[in-house]
Amino acid sequence: MEKKIYIETYGCQMNFSDSEIVASIITEKGYSAAEKADDADIIFINTCSIRENAEQKVFNRLKQLQHLRKNKPDLVLGVLGCMAERMKTSLLEEDQMGGMRVDMVVGPDAYRDLPQLLLDVESGQKAVNVILSSEETYADISPVRYASNGVSAFISIMRGCENFCTYCVVPFTRGKERSRDPKTILREARLLFQQGYREITLLGQNVNSYRFREDQNDTIWSFPVLMMAVAEIDSSLRVRFATSHPKDMSDELLEVIAAFPNICKAIHLPAQSGSSTVLRRMNRKYTREDYLDRIEAIRRIIPECAISTDIIAGFCGETEDEHQETISLMKNVEYDFAYMFKYSERPGTLAAKKYPDDIPEKVKSQRLQEIINLQNELSLKSNQTDIGKVFEVLVEGKSRKSDKRVSGRNSQNKVVVFDDNGYKPGDYVQVKVVECSSATLKGMAVK
Ligand code: SF4
Repeated sequence: MEKKIYIETYGCQMNFSDSEIVASIITEKGYSAAEKADDADIIFINTCSIRENAEQKVFNRLKQLQHLRKNKPDLVLGVLGCMAERMKTSLLEEDQMGGMRVDMVVGPDAYRDLPQLLLDVESGQKAVNVILSSEETYADISPVRYASNGVSAFISIMRGCENFCTYCVVPFTRGKERSRDPKTILREARLLFQQGYREITLLGQNVNSYRFREDQNDTIWSFPVLMMAVAEIDSSLRVRFATSHPKDMSDELLEVIAAFPNICKAIHLPAQSGSSTVLRRMNRKYTREDYLDRIEAIRRIIPECAISTDIIAGFCGETEDEHQETISLMKNVEYDFAYMFKYSERPGTLAAKKYPDDIPEKVKSQRLQEIINLQNELSLKSNQTDIGKVFEVLVEGKSRKSDKRVSGRNSQNKVVVFDDNGYKPGDYVQVKVVECSSATLKGMAVK
């Protein structure tokens, strides 16, 4: 009988994109998809190591899933992704895992080996492959978009990262930076467009350092060149990208974004801190002034651009003054949106080796709360300035709160909800904003 597989994904968009690659590799070998974990013969948990609580969530889930073994003694439970890479064979040790059984451990560069690893498990062995590659980009694999809304899709254009921000585990779990052949990226984007997709997000850990050399004609593909080529596929295909690094945010890229109406006017530019001394300890490779210079360039070249960021509260040695520099940076930039977290020390990172995690939990929480409160005000202010404006919204589906309404995003990546007049996912609708909360714009369709 055909075996059923269920993939559960945690963490960043790269992980979701990787799960689509895993689905492709597995379904080609004759496995079919299960709707839920209870129906599966094989469960893969694609994991994230970025923060301690992300790993804790996975441990809790693995514990929960053990009960399925009662009715299915042959159930295969595999841990994929960053936790697999970070913890390696220790995940297979039942005594170290509090009695939990994991059958497979597979790192992010070893997914082609999954069919063989599954055979190893079926023959009674535990299976592991956590070898990192300096070349693997899965360029030739067509991802299976099993959880897609049919409108928006991710395309992975590069893998790994060599920036070694001191707090970050990614260079250790995802290895060297490598860019994917642009021909395969463009082929995938064209195919998605033909299949009805209307929005593509080009993904990478540090997407704007994309660089591919075509040896046969000695051509260099930079990120702006790639963006242009994707945008030229069709003017009704929206293009986004994530995540960018401030040091690689060139004027050339900003000019390409400004020149193409279908390249979305939304840039996620992780600041992490507003203090140059903290940024130096984080090894972010820019100062507060460098960062603000890039913000000024975005405002000058793309005035209508939304800007979002990531902020870490309470990094090693952060003083109250340094924290206040983050607050002042946020007020200066007036971010439209932010992902905000307390610093969480990750084993093996440069910060864990070099700097004590010395900010008391209570202080971290207070600083984070101050940051969140400020961002809520900034998001509301940003949304209020949109009242009365008309935006082109790409419909994604029914609104979560009411099936009489539809929900989509504008170019600035803001969620816009409006009455459903028979719209289908993938339709573009001109919508006038009439009210807002800090998270959502509400509007009405206009002719
Ligand atoms: S740029 Fe820094 S934070 Fe981002 S993945 Fe690389 S090391 Fe981690």
